[in-house]
Amino acid sequence: MKFDSHAHGMHAPLDPLTEKRVPPVVPAWTTVDGPVEPHIERNRAMGIEGVLLLDPPEVTFPLKELFGDFVYHCPMVRMHESSREEILAIIERGANGIKFIAPMRPLGDEEYFPLYEAVRDAGGLAVFHTGYQNRNSFDPGGFLARPKYLRITDSRPAEIDRISRAFPDLKILMAHMGNPWWEEAFCVITQSPNVFTDFSGGSAVRVDMDCWKHLFAPNGKPSVKALEKLCYGSDASMCHPGVFEHQFMMDFYEDFYSALGLPAELREKIDRGNIRSLLGLD
Ligand SMILES: [Zn+2]
Repeated sequence: MKFDSHAHGMHAPLDPLTEKRVPPVVPAWTTVDGPVEPHIERNRAMGIEGVLLLDPPEVTFPLKELFGDFVYHCPMVRMHESSREEILAIIERGANGIKFIAPMRPLGDEEYFPLYEAVRDAGGLAVFHTGYQNRNSFDPGGFLARPKYLRITDSRPAEIDRISRAFPDLKILMAHMGNPWWEEAFCVITQSPNVFTDFSGGSAVRVDMDCWKHLFAPNGKPSVKALEKLCYGSDASMCHPGVFEHQFMMDFYEDFYSALGLPAELREKIDRGNIRSLLGLD
């Protein structure tokens, strides 16, 4: 079984004139969509035991309520206007941590340290979007618009390195492995005991498998120190009626395991063990 460390459950209506998604962001599943049990059962039959949702709190809390122990959540906050108090309130309300995405300054900037401190103090998981960000969601005019245009270098893995130095006790998941700064991300997971990562999103799966082999098993020797910091993550919509779009990512991870000849124990950590322990479930 796999536990999806990077899943979504939000929906934003499509404006027919501009064909762009517009606010408000709402849960993809509401009570009118019927019981969730068949959806959960089908996911479990496909090999997914649970998911970590990374959407705004107005999406994740209702979905947690509906989906019970299939769903865990680290709600995303608007970093440029968030506070220690907001973070603590979200985690006290029952969230498993916080997702940090689309900053207006570099992620490693001191201005954000009180937010990270709050997640650490509450014992939560800090999930960071790293690397490229699509153009439709967070830039001005997007359905989760920030006040200014994003600078993707603000979310490079090097920024996570700085956070890890300042907060060695903070549990960190560096989402998307820093796409396209894979080597930088590899260095960070290898050197920082508290930083984990994943291949979620549409980019890692398009990189030639030989490149992953060279990165994670140089000269044919698997780098266990890095491999044991990976988590399974899809970036798929996992709580959307009739939508089961994550098979491509499950196939990619299996191909990766085969290409590197990974032992069962390591696969188990990547598939579910790491994320479950980051969430404090095991
Ligand atoms: Zn995502």
